[in-house]
Amino acid sequence: MAGSGGSGAPGLEALRARMDEVTMRMVGLLKERTEIAVGIGRAKRSAGLVVADAGREESLRRRVAAECGALGLDAAMGSRLLDLLLDESVRVQSGGAGAPPAAPRREPRPSMFQRAKALEAGGRRIIHMEVGEPDFAPPPEAERALAGACAAGRTRYGPPKGTPELRAAFAEYARRYGASPGAEDVMVTPGGRFSVFLAMSALLSPGDEVVLVEPAWPAYRDCAELAGAAVRAVGTSLEGGWVPRLEDVERAASGPAARMLVLNYPNNPTGRVLPPGTMDGLMSLAAERGLYVLSDEIYSEHAGPSSGWKSALSYGYGRAVTVQSLSKSHAMTGFRAGFAVAAPPITDRMARLQAVCLTSVPDPVQHAALAALGADVSGRTAEIRSRLRALQSRASAMGLRFLAPDGAMYLFATPGNGAGFDGTALANRLLGYGVAVAPGEDFGGYGRYVRISACLGVDELMEGMDAVERALAEGGGVG
Ligand code: PMP
Repeated sequence: MAGSGGSGAPGLEALRARMDEVTMRMVGLLKERTEIAVGIGRAKRSAGLVVADAGREESLRRRVAAECGALGLDAAMGSRLLDLLLDESVRVQSGGAGAPPAAPRREPRPSMFQRAKALEAGGRRIIHMEVGEPDFAPPPEAERALAGACAAGRTRYGPPKGTPELRAAFAEYARRYGASPGAEDVMVTPGGRFSVFLAMSALLSPGDEVVLVEPAWPAYRDCAELAGAAVRAVGTSLEGGWVPRLEDVERAASGPAARMLVLNYPNNPTGRVLPPGTMDGLMSLAAERGLYVLSDEIYSEHAGPSSGWKSALSYGYGRAVTVQSLSKSHAMTGFRAGFAVAAPPITDRMARLQAVCLTSVPDPVQHAALAALGADVSGRTAEIRSRLRALQSRASAMGLRFLAPDGAMYLFATPGNGAGFDGTALANRLLGYGVAVAPGEDFGGYGRYVRISACLGVDELMEGMDAVERALAEGGGVG
């Protein structure tokens, strides 16, 4: 019988005994390694050095990959083991051998939005320029459909991928982006954020690597790390037009554990749309390496008409997951209505996880989303573009530097040459004035920037910019 002692398979018992012996030797080596890590931690503390050392980590990574090659061992497995060992070293070096189990690398902390909301709950008036939440009402079609859902008895559990009608309607909607998905390629999720979470949780394993172009919306890193993956960040700059260099992406994706490339265009926070040649290059690179592409396109309706924006859908790549949402385009943030487009083997995996987490997206919300797709939202997106233009003129007049956004709803700006400027210090001071902006450090290592959202009416935006000007004049951005 399988698993019982006397299986009768010749040689099996001897192999098991050897396997156990090797495992026990590895445990012994782990003990030895842990003691060394404690010693290193002590030495670093007394020399005033920090624990993490990216250069050493990188060189060890290369050695392990080379050794795997020489031994004929799966390099991805070697990389996963190394990730585990490195995490453990950092934990032990930080707190000694008795340190508690590894916590997530970056503990979520209250966002500027949460801090601003808490002040508001205490009675303060806050001008919300930190959050991407258009101040428009949802389309009346959606409101009516939501109210009508109960009368129509749409109050039951539904299928994990969403209702067939809504999946078909979302597929039809996505066809405007130069692709021809069918209902079978679509799954409904409670907002775009949950599509990101599901895609990363379903497709990544601990030790995998995710290539992320930064600055980036923070949830990508959070979700990747939650799935046990390591993030390989590719930095971009204002001087470089916030466009990633292909060779940098290539380098970040060169390891055997590279599994996914994350793209988000039009981009939050920079407003950049990729030049078509760069998008082509990134998609070819992903195909060569067999990477999944997670393309978050929730700002597609906010791409400027002449921006040249191109959806990942238009490449017909079988390992792409495209994320969409009605939150921004239809001002339906609180409905939690989004969807993912991907090949059915991918959405099957995502749907199994969605079923575990929440059974199904609330049926009344799906009913409302279906109705919302019939609404003309072009006035809303044009209004956001016009607000962005007003914000740009004011920011330029104040001497802020930024890339004129090709799309999305934000300005990612820094004063003057940015030297000595601390976006977090400015954001903290502004909160005291009742104005919230998002610090650049939330989007990666971009502490010299702040993100200003154009989701409010122009009068309120200008009032907020008055406060930014005052705070800067008072030296509020010097940390
Ligand atoms: N992706 C990006 C790039 C975003 O900026 C946001 C919201 N700020 C989301 C996804 C999440 O949107 P949703 O409300 O659809 O979850």
